[in-house]
Amino acid sequence: MSVRRAFAFALGGLSGLALAAAAGASARFYAGRRCADRVWAASRYPQLGGMGAVERLTILPLIDWYAASEDLATEPGVAYLVRADDTTILFDVGYNQGAEHPSPLLRNMAALGVDIAGVDALVISHAHEDHQGGSSHMRGCTYALSGQPVDLKGIPAYVPVSLSNPTAESIVVDAPRVIAPGVARTGPIPRQLFFLGWTLEQSLAVNVKGKGIVLIVGCGHPTLQRIVDRAEMLFDEPIYGLVGGLHYPVTASREQLFGLLPAQRLMGTGKPPWDPINRQDVETAIGYLERRQPGLVSLSPHDSCDWSLDAFRTAFGQAYQDLLVGEEIVIQ
Ligand SMILES: [Zn+2]
Ligand SMILES: [Zn+2]
Repeated sequence: MSVRRAFAFALGGLSGLALAAAAGASARFYAGRRCADRVWAASRYPQLGGMGAVERLTILPLIDWYAASEDLATEPGVAYLVRADDTTILFDVGYNQGAEHPSPLLRNMAALGVDIAGVDALVISHAHEDHQGGSSHMRGCTYALSGQPVDLKGIPAYVPVSLSNPTAESIVVDAPRVIAPGVARTGPIPRQLFFLGWTLEQSLAVNVKGKGIVLIVGCGHPTLQRIVDRAEMLFDEPIYGLVGGLHYPVTASREQLFGLLPAQRLMGTGKPPWDPINRQDVETAIGYLERRQPGLVSLSPHDSCDWSLDAFRTAFGQAYQDLLVGEEIVIQ
């Protein structure tokens, strides 16, 4: 065989392999999407009656993409300190991309005067590296606050899939539950992502007296619409607010794959690469939330682009608050 023919043969083989891989990924994606839709349709829960309400809720972003001060560390990840009257919850544990110790999260906690000893519970929204403390933890099905162990003894950690930590008491969540007066987990909602696969994500819901339910969301993979629908299934009170990530990397992505490809846009939206998330998707979601006339909306910039942040800012006007590390969001 001539060199040219051998080259053509090899190229043909490689294209065939690439096509087969693309067809396999595509089949997996559509099968997973149908499965997620079936699970969603079958997920019917009774109302979480008698969970009570809190007088005051504060959400302090400890890790996210933008900060209120240059002295605070930022990352394309999430960690929020949620204080609901007497209950303090650490919602997600950041990204720690460099596996540092102390991690950006620990450094910001120290700068903001937050002590882990004051945390009553951990909630991990979903098992992605930007929420569970890094890529090695995503691969190893673990979660961590820093590159070296942090003692979490005696702290319950509510996780949506099997994840472990050497000292926290990890409790896998499979349904909505009240976890403290006025505070509930919404239970996991599935979404099939094209590259990242099957993803179960839970949110936190806090009932603020005289206002309604405030949803605290990690990446928003299940879609804003389903997160709101789940809350409306569980509570009589109106949706008052939504704080956190909704994954709208429409015009840009905070993370690049190989320094080139828009990682979040390709990997986390629940749409295939040939039909990526677009402005209409975001506008439809905004309309869905607008109809609830929320009193507070704060979109995480960790997984949404500046165009999407602007769209939310414009749509919700006075009710919109920029989400900045170090700047407390107060609802009372
Ligand atoms: Zn995220
Ligand atoms: Zn995610």
